[in-house]
Amino acid sequence: MIYDLHTHSTASDGTLAPAELVRFAHARGVAVLALTDHDTTQGLGAAAQAAGAWGIHLVRGIEISVTWEGNTVHIVGLNIDPACVELQHGLAKLQTFRAWRAEEIGRRLAKAGVDGALDHALAYADGAAVSRTHFARFLVEHGHAKDMRQAFKRFLTRDKPGYVPGRWASLEEAIALIRAAGGQAVLAHPGRYKISATRLRLLATALKECGGAAVEVVSGGNSLEERASMAALARRVGLKASVGSDYHGPRIGYADLGDRLDLPAGCEPVWQDWAVSVDPPTERMLA
Ligand code: AMP
Ligand code: MN
Ligand code: MN
Ligand code: MN
Repeated sequence: MIYDLHTHSTASDGTLAPAELVRFAHARGVAVLALTDHDTTQGLGAAAQAAGAWGIHLVRGIEISVTWEGNTVHIVGLNIDPACVELQHGLAKLQTFRAWRAEEIGRRLAKAGVDGALDHALAYADGAAVSRTHFARFLVEHGHAKDMRQAFKRFLTRDKPGYVPGRWASLEEAIALIRAAGGQAVLAHPGRYKISATRLRLLATALKECGGAAVEVVSGGNSLEERASMAALARRVGLKASVGSDYHGPRIGYADLGDRLDLPAGCEPVWQDWAVSVDPPTERMLA
């Protein structure tokens, strides 16, 4: 059974609408899918409806932006209740920062000679929370960069013209919000942070101490070596293991939906105690 516990939709910076994402998950043979948009639960209603139709077990999720010791890190929440008032209150604060940051990115890019960035980013976001991904798409499509990677590298990362330092949730706050909503907190894509192994262990330990549940051992096409080292980290700190593609849509992002997500041996899956029931999709579709 394929679990994919980290994905995005048009509710944040993905390119598939929630229902399209669920439909594609079905086509890819994913049985258990978590939609984990950045700092918003807006897509979960439509995803749940589509999951019912396609016989997929939808895990209601979130990916919360966190500022930890000067670094931006991401905490995935799994099995959250989106109706939780405390959670929504916390997310509203992050969205307020996101909206202000978008304006600030627009101003900074304009200063660097790139005009019209905010308007285009807002148009790409189409009412959803604006992310750097929307700016990157604009930069590529208007010839300022040859691809998304270069757009980030030249304009949107630390010390580059369009970079605005994050003022996101604290680690404690993010985990508290997820737990208040009944969810499990997972350290997302641990191999992608530009911090030393020692600091990564401190981060995982801090997550554990705040009541976090797991490390994303298998993440968006990471290498077997990295998976082994993250599995060792999880064991050492006493955390479970999660898996997720971090899918953002066809031809963009990190990995394909549901692709090669097997946990290495010796991991305790984050879904160990979940009650998962999935209808066999084929029977479902024949009915
Ligand atoms: P934000 O939360 O608005 O700061 O945007 C972060 C998002 O940008 C991540 O979730 C990724 O989807 C995307 N991203 C970050 N770095 C890169 C990169 N180097 N190439 C492509 N996408 C990236
Ligand atoms: Mn993203
Ligand atoms: Mn992330
Ligand atoms: Mn993500």
